[in-house]
Amino acid sequence: MNDTGHLQGASPLWHPFADMGAVARDKLVLERADGIWAWDAEGRRYLDATASLWYANLGHARDEIAAAIADQLGALDAYSIFGDYANQPALELAERLAALAPSPGMKVFLGSGGGDMVDTAVKVVRAHFAQTGQPQRTHLISRTHGYHGTHGLGTSVGGIPANTGGWGPLVTDVSVVPHDDAAALEREIERVGTERVAAFFCEPVIGAGGVRHAPAGYIEAVAEICKRHGVLFVADCVISGFGRLGTWWGIDRWPVQPDLITVAKGLTNGVLPVGALLVAEHVAAPFFPDAAGAPVLRHGPTYAGHPVCCAAALAALDVYERDDVIRRGRDLEDALAAVLRPLAEHPLVGEVRAGLGLMAAIELSEDVLRAAPDAPARWVAAGREAGVLVRPLAGAIALSPPLVIEEDEIALLGTRLANSLELL
Ligand code: PLP
Repeated sequence: MNDTGHLQGASPLWHPFADMGAVARDKLVLERADGIWAWDAEGRRYLDATASLWYANLGHARDEIAAAIADQLGALDAYSIFGDYANQPALELAERLAALAPSPGMKVFLGSGGGDMVDTAVKVVRAHFAQTGQPQRTHLISRTHGYHGTHGLGTSVGGIPANTGGWGPLVTDVSVVPHDDAAALEREIERVGTERVAAFFCEPVIGAGGVRHAPAGYIEAVAEICKRHGVLFVADCVISGFGRLGTWWGIDRWPVQPDLITVAKGLTNGVLPVGALLVAEHVAAPFFPDAAGAPVLRHGPTYAGHPVCCAAALAALDVYERDDVIRRGRDLEDALAAVLRPLAEHPLVGEVRAGLGLMAAIELSEDVLRAAPDAPARWVAAGREAGVLVRPLAGAIALSPPLVIEEDEIALLGTRLANSLELL
C-alpha cells in the first residue's frame, strides 16, 4: 500500500512477467524505434539487441508494412473468417505460408499469436485422434526448459517450473523429458503407453528457456521416434521462424517434416499480432472431406484471419523475400558468436550459448547468481546505461537482434555488452 491506501504503483498498467514493485520505482518508457535502434522518452538511443521480444526481424518502422496496414484499413478494416466468411488477405496469407511450408499440402489455421497457436495445436491434435478412432491418444510430451506461451494449454506443456507452478492444476496429461536426450523421449512414450501419446512439442532451439541448442542428431532422432510411434511432432517455431535460424521456419534447418508447425512474432515483424498453425495434410484430413458434413473444429479466436493483421503479414513476407532477409540469420550467426564468445572469459560470465542463428544467451557464473539471484535483471539495467537493450532469462540474458543488423553493428553490440559487464 502507498500513503493513499491504494496498491503501489502510479500506473494501473500491469506488466507481463514483471516485478511490479520494481516497475513502480523504475521503468523504461520507449517512444520511438527505427531499424535496430529505439529511443526513450528522454531521447536516449539504444541498440535493440533483442528485436523487442525476438520479433522485429526486419528492424523497426518498416514503411512497407505501415503502408499495407493503411491500405487495408481503407478497404476492409475488420471482418471475421468464422464459418464460411473469408477475406482476400487471409486467403492469400494461407496460400503463401502453405507454399513455403516444409511439406506440401499443409493447412493453415490463423490466430492472434504464438500462445493461441500452441493451444490450437493441442486441440487439433486431440481432435484428429478423436476423429480417427484413437480418442485415448491425449497425452502430451514436452521438454525441460521448453516455453510454449502462457495460455492454458501452452502453460501446461511448458518445461520451465517457474512458469508452470503456482496456478493450481493445469492439464495433467503431460510429461516433460530432458531437452537434450532423444532416448528419454522414447522411454517416456513407452512408459506412458504408445497408444496413449498424442504429440511431442519441440522448439528447434529452446528460446525463452535459455537459448539451448539440441545436440547434433537430436531433432532428426525425435522426429523419427515420433513417426515410429504414431506421435505427432509439433515444431514450435514461434521464435525460430522467419529467419531467426536463417530459414523460413527454423525447424527446416534439419531434414524433418513436422506434423504441425506454430509460428507468430516475425510473421508480421511483430507489428500486429498474428499467429499461424500449419497442419500436415494427413492430420487435417478428417476435417477436409470432399463433401459437406465435415466434423467441425469448434475452435477459433475472434481475430483469426483479421484482414489488417493478415495484410501486415503479407507485407512482411514481401520484404523477407525481396531483400533476401531470411538467410541473414545463418549468414550472420558466426559473426554474432565471434563477438559474444570472448565475453565467456569475463569473471562474471559462466557460459555463452551462440552459433546457431541470430539468437544467443550469456549466462552469468554460478558464483554471481548464488550471491545475487537478481543479477540478470541488474545486467539488463547496466545494458541500458551502456546503450543496449537486452532481456533477462533465468540466470542469463538473451540476445536476438534484428536480422537486418550489419556486421559493424554486431561489433558495437559486443562492445556495449562488454561495457555493461563493467557496470555490473
Ligand atoms: N512458443 C514459443 C516457442 C515462444 O517463444 C512463445 C513466446 O515467446 C510462444 C509460444 C507464445 O507466443 P505469444 O507470446 O505470442 O503468445
